Amino acid sequence: MLLLDGKKLSEKRLSALKKEVEEHYEKTKTRPGLAVIRIGDNPASKVYVGKKVKACHDVGIHSVEVLFPESVSEEKVLTEVEKLNRDPAINGILIQLPIPKHLSEKVLMERMNPKKDVDGFHPLNRGKFLAGDDALIPCTPLGIMNLLKEYKIEIKGKSALVIGRSLIVGRPMSLLLDQAGATVTVAHSQTKNLEELCERADIIVVAIGKPHFLSSQKIKAGAVIIDVGINRLESGKLVGDVDFEKYKSIASAITPVPGGVGPMTICSLLENTWKSFLNTQ
Ligand code: NAP
Repeated sequence: MLLLDGKKLSEKRLSALKKEVEEHYEKTKTRPGLAVIRIGDNPASKVYVGKKVKACHDVGIHSVEVLFPESVSEEKVLTEVEKLNRDPAINGILIQLPIPKHLSEKVLMERMNPKKDVDGFHPLNRGKFLAGDDALIPCTPLGIMNLLKEYKIEIKGKSALVIGRSLIVGRPMSLLLDQAGATVTVAHSQTKNLEELCERADIIVVAIGKPHFLSSQKIKAGAVIIDVGINRLESGKLVGDVDFEKYKSIASAITPVPGGVGPMTICSLLENTWKSFLNTQ
């Protein structure tokens, strides 16, 4: 079994990015900048944003974290987004999800300058991505594609199953696999024949947010499993949506949790920030 080591690959890619950032700085005395807006006290968001800010620091990307209390008005966040849209030192803007219920994700994302939308959530980026044009692509599925490429996992002509259809992970993942030549099936909470779909798939991506959801289903011998889930158990242990131990001897390749998709997501965020920066030079 091949362990798809996202930690190792992200370190390799980020070290290459650091070199590019430094070389560019030597020539121009400018660096990319990422702004992260965090609203409220969600402890997981605090950890994720901390990791993103640290990664920026390590690579030489300027970063700012903008904090708002849970009760902040939509108007106030929109004013900040517009300020960052105009700020020449900022090339990427990210609003850490989830946001409080009284705020509209759609309204906030639509106000963002699409050229700075490093999460790929603006409708313009979504539309371009759907059409197969150059766009900023959501970080998690983009990171997964880079991981599959690094380990030379064949996609063309394969049968792929994506479990989960969120706009952040499942849906863009299914589109990327489709664009890469796989025949894709998307499963969700209304799917009736999941067992059968699992048995048929060459590549299975699980992104639903339920600890060890994939554990009893039969899979094809030699299938590739990508586990996107990050679930913290009451014991504090971090587990994915897939029972790694159960499948490690059946799958031909599998991602661990932690150390699989998570680090690739952060890596793609920084690479998207670099892409946005270069597009404005
Ligand atoms: P989400 O928005 O809650 O979407 C969950 C999806 O799973 C929905 O499409 C839902 O179907 C589907 N689903 C729920 N129960 C199901 C079931 N029993 N059978 C089949 N499908 C089911 O979640 P998300 O934002 O995509 O995140 C999914 C997981 O990935 C979470 O654990 C999250 O923490 C993790 N995540 C990890 C990274 C990373 O970098 N590793 C990044 C983002 C997210 P319906 O559409 O029918 O409701």
